[in-house]
Amino acid sequence: MIPYGRQYIDEEDIKAVAQVLRSDFLTTGPKVQEFEQALADFCESNYAVSFSSGTAALHACMYALGIGPGDEVIAPAMTFVATANCVAYMGATPVFADVIHSNLLIDPQDIIKKITPNTKAIIAVDYAGLPCNWDALRQIADDHGLFLVADSCHALGASHKGKMVGSIADLTVFSFHPLKHITTGEGGAVTTHNPYSYQQLKTFRNHGITTTHQERKLWHYEMVDLGYNYRLSDIQCALGISQLKKMPWFLKARQEIADTYMMSFIGWDGIQLLGLVGPDAVHAYHLFVIKVKADDRERIFKELRARGIGVQVHYIPVHLHPYYRQNFGTGEGLCPVAEQAYQEIISLPIYPGMGISDVYTVINTVKAVV
Ligand SMILES: *Cc1c(COP(=O)(O)O)cnc(C)c1O
Repeated sequence: MIPYGRQYIDEEDIKAVAQVLRSDFLTTGPKVQEFEQALADFCESNYAVSFSSGTAALHACMYALGIGPGDEVIAPAMTFVATANCVAYMGATPVFADVIHSNLLIDPQDIIKKITPNTKAIIAVDYAGLPCNWDALRQIADDHGLFLVADSCHALGASHKGKMVGSIADLTVFSFHPLKHITTGEGGAVTTHNPYSYQQLKTFRNHGITTTHQERKLWHYEMVDLGYNYRLSDIQCALGISQLKKMPWFLKARQEIADTYMMSFIGWDGIQLLGLVGPDAVHAYHLFVIKVKADDRERIFKELRARGIGVQVHYIPVHLHPYYRQNFGTGEGLCPVAEQAYQEIISLPIYPGMGISDVYTVINTVKAVV
């Protein structure tokens, strides 16, 4: 089976991890700050805070913004459940906005329709690795006094109008799950320019305690709020540092595979590509998504799997999951564009170590099956 995504680990990564295993600090040691600095530099952001997962990083963002019961946070329907779950963790209400037909990014017009006096923030997702229209989102956020959060778990290395993803929104979240651009096994991070948010994120990650063990005088420390243990270990951060060095090549490899797919499928009967990338954006291609006829999608999906192509569907619209139906009264008709797209989408394999012969196997098999 050619998987839809896969980590790329080399001997340098293994050496970096082994070195930490032989050192004094397995966690809360020097590798954490080193990784955070490298990530902040890569994203052209002032600060980065690492977390045990992208989901924990999203949770921390909601804490840092003071989201609580009675608040509403707008999120796209077409995303992984974690984007909305972080709102529910705080006892607040996720409000689902529809997406744009051509690229499945959150629709600024629908955001405006869904703003109420209770709205506190927007979480936008750089779906598949394509940056949102961040100018439009910033305008809406400023006009209505809202915080702007980027769930950029798909988009490490992407940029919009020359600005790196990670330097645009108030808070930007990344994931280091093995299927994402770089991996730490499990892991995540938030980048921000804001020193207050930076402190809040660090406190939340460490039980709500304001000082780390290095900063302490004698035994004294203060827990000022209810936080969690959401730390990323030095073992994981060493892997992250080593992985981040390969990002230029990782990105190029993904973009070359995407180019090959586009050249092969463009104009092919029964296959629709998502909208072409404009000159404003650099796409990071976490996913390569095609659309097929809705009434043929299940057959195509099954036949591709049967022929060894590890396709996936990203995503079941979040508001259609039983949890959201039962607890937030969501359901069909709330976000019709996302619901229709969900009937048509298939994600094809794309990952840095994917050989060109596998790329052509996917192309030829997809054409044959469609
Ligand atoms: C992967 C992902 C997450 C969650 O990241 P984890 O590290 O798996 O917790 C959140 N949002 C989106 C859009 C993702 O793709």
